[in-house]
Amino acid sequence: MTDQNNIAAPLPTPTLHAENGVLTLESLSLPQIAEQYGTPTYVYSRAALTSAFDAWKQALSGRKALVCYAVKANSNLGVLSVFAQLGAGFDIVSGGELARVLAAGGRADRVVFSGVGKTRSEMRQALLAGIRCFNVESATELERLDAVAAELGKTAPIALRVNPNVDPKTHPYISTGLKDNKFGVAFADAQSLYRRAATLPNLHIAGIACHIGSQLLDPAPVAEAAQKVADLVDRLAADGIVLEHIDLGGGLGIRYRDEAPPSVAQYLAPLLKVFEGRKEELCFEPGRSLVGNAGLLLTRIEYLKPGETKNFAIVDAAMNDLARPALYDAWHEVVEVVERDVATQTYDIVGPICESGDFLARGRELAAAEGDLLAILSAGAYGMTMSSNYNTRPRAAEVIVDGKQSHLVRERESVSALFADEKPLS
Ligand SMILES: *Cc1c(COP(=O)(O)O)cnc(C)c1O
Repeated sequence: MTDQNNIAAPLPTPTLHAENGVLTLESLSLPQIAEQYGTPTYVYSRAALTSAFDAWKQALSGRKALVCYAVKANSNLGVLSVFAQLGAGFDIVSGGELARVLAAGGRADRVVFSGVGKTRSEMRQALLAGIRCFNVESATELERLDAVAAELGKTAPIALRVNPNVDPKTHPYISTGLKDNKFGVAFADAQSLYRRAATLPNLHIAGIACHIGSQLLDPAPVAEAAQKVADLVDRLAADGIVLEHIDLGGGLGIRYRDEAPPSVAQYLAPLLKVFEGRKEELCFEPGRSLVGNAGLLLTRIEYLKPGETKNFAIVDAAMNDLARPALYDAWHEVVEVVERDVATQTYDIVGPICESGDFLARGRELAAAEGDLLAILSAGAYGMTMSSNYNTRPRAAEVIVDGKQSHLVRERESVSALFADEKPLS
């Protein structure tokens, strides 16, 4: 099994380029960053984050719309602060994410709260903060939210997350809009649930939401879901339930390898057509498409280990840093940071963790030597946020490059911090 390491030009990260054979992000070379901060380190480009957000803003210009960045893709405060400064809203799935948004300078009144398992205390926290909308995913959550709001003397703005039962044709683990998924309320039940919501005194019906999956490469299923949602909104209006906003979720895919995702404008065109002439505010919850290709994982080769059937490049990053390859068999482009004049060989790029699933990439052609730096591309989304401390490995540092400057936005964890909250028995 050999994947040729032919890098489809240009690199998927718009602000990454080679300068005299050395990979450079914006105006900083990756060896400089490794020198200053060590490895493994997640490195993000502020300009790439900004241009990804601007693409959404531009495609929606002239339309009443709010782009709510899906925090779970990358919840670093530095990243959140960049989006907050650009006027983004935020899509959160926990009270912890709400705390991060507020700490990063995000506005509570631009926060939508998704997720199937909101606890009472998370509801309280969000009501007290004054978020924009709860995306409610079940009948019992509706009742619970009404009760919690009553205790606080507040009114909870709500949307029902409906499940349009369309197949987004993506990886089953990240497909969310089919009948047998745990997400949302069944389309057939939505109208009666809205009627029920209208009778609950501490709820304000604000909108409707749907999100059908992630890494979508075809806008057609989303447009199909949008049409179903629009029809439902009309039926609700006929029932006297008038919605202020329609939230179409996230899901736009990115190029990891040779995928050809639509541009934001191409993705939105059929959706905007569905909503042409309507007055509801549109809301979107992109995660991956805003951060995925704005980040990379910088790692160093510790050992080159020839095996009987394959060669291994053992690096200082592992599945605890980047889980996607082990979890989804995901493909990430791996590039040598400094071009080298040695023989090319085929390697599995693996970490030091005691699991055979601990690989970052397999069957890649590298002209590499021990001590070399590698950049694992398209790692800005669902990279650091899915990392763990398995094998008591401190999590990586995170750095944002901004022109010639770099900002350490998360220090490398210390080993002592990893067990500071534990204690041995006497
Ligand atoms: C995960 C998620 C998103 C973001 O999905 P991306 O594919 O990263 O754009 C948006 N909304 C909801 C409800 C989600 O669960």
